Amino acid sequence: MATPATHDDFGTSAGCGTHAPNGAAPARRAGRAATWARSLVGTLHVLLLVLGAGGCAPPPNPLEEFEAASQRDARSRLEGPGYVLYSPLDADQSASYARVLGEEIALVSALVEAPAGPSIRAYLVPLPADVQEDRADILAEVLPSAGGYQAGASARGVFFVYVRPASPEIGAVVRAEFARATIRHELVHVLSRRVGLPGASWFQEGLAEEVASMRVVGGELVAHPYPAELVVARRAMQPGALEDLLGWRLHDGRPLADRQRCYARSLAWLRFLLERQPETALLGKLQAIAAQQPDSLLRLEPEWTAWLARQDPLAAIRSRVGTAGGAEAAGWLPTLAAAGAPELATRVADELALQLLADAHTVEPASRFLLMFRAAELRAEDLRALAAAGDPVRELCALALHARRGEAIDRGRAGTVWTMLPAEQRDRLRLLGLMLGVRR
Ligand SMILES: [Zn+2]
Repeated sequence: MATPATHDDFGTSAGCGTHAPNGAAPARRAGRAATWARSLVGTLHVLLLVLGAGGCAPPPNPLEEFEAASQRDARSRLEGPGYVLYSPLDADQSASYARVLGEEIALVSALVEAPAGPSIRAYLVPLPADVQEDRADILAEVLPSAGGYQAGASARGVFFVYVRPASPEIGAVVRAEFARATIRHELVHVLSRRVGLPGASWFQEGLAEEVASMRVVGGELVAHPYPAELVVARRAMQPGALEDLLGWRLHDGRPLADRQRCYARSLAWLRFLLERQPETALLGKLQAIAAQQPDSLLRLEPEWTAWLARQDPLAAIRSRVGTAGGAEAAGWLPTLAAAGAPELATRVADELALQLLADAHTVEPASRFLLMFRAAELRAEDLRALAAAGDPVRELCALALHARRGEAIDRGRAGTVWTMLPAEQRDRLRLLGLMLGVRR
């Protein structure tokens, strides 16, 4: 069932989801919900990595029929700068997706220097009734996928994302926020073609994943210092990996796990190539990479392998602790552990995380890392030291770790310590509160 990757390329990327307030709320409440949704992306990213993202949807074939049917069945049609959005949701709910779409078009266009062009046609698509859903959990609720596919984009200025109807429990504001990374990934496919970048699967998916992993700083997209795909690519490294990757065609029938490896390798390979380019602007670098011949690329495998081996996630985190980026880097502990980084399954990583529990800015990811991945390996004296630190936060961490190890704890004491925390800290440590059953 091979499809020429140079014609209609389809792709997907990760996002996150959870329970949320009503999406039809007034603007102020909607803004708070979106902020809240973003704050949970880190937490739930861990779960997503464990479960794995979907794959790349085959192109609707023929595209014209897909568009005609989607337009005919749409409940709302929203237009904004550079896009038209067709949606099965009502206009209020669709507006949440339109807001994310508008923001992402501006960000990605600026990044790849895409000129204004014909409006992008974006389709929110209900999951087809006749497909087997991939999951039946909370993530499936906000990131629906079928047959390993969450979304797809065409070289002809069209993309779609699967959606479910918004509900009182999980409103459209939150759903749209969690679809942001997927929408950005698809926009990269559409807008990179507008500036003439090539359609090889490794190039398109590597770029889309790289951009989807970026953070917004000062209103611009900037590279993520250590995306989780690097961990996956390092683990999957083996002789011949580059030849396999360069020969990858999006719809060449590979199993889902293989496709997911290709996505991670694509990001790692493109990032390696980007770092070798002397140009400063991203588009210039990409154009220089696109001009390289396959033979000369293939010869770079040993260099790429060595580069990848040097991307030590623990070293990346440690080098940022104590700097302005320290809190963000602490957040990589659980994310990269979930991706399977062996360097984080070590005593050195445990000691770093234990140290980070003492800092209000890093305690949340450090405790999440220890609770989810390292509770059983910690030493009894580690837990004793936490309990005796004279700090309610660390005492609460010790209690949660004991509970996670299946050891008896004083629930009454947990409730007392919980009430000693400032409200802001309680909000930040909601996972601990939930684990201990003390959070109302
Ligand atoms: Zn893609």
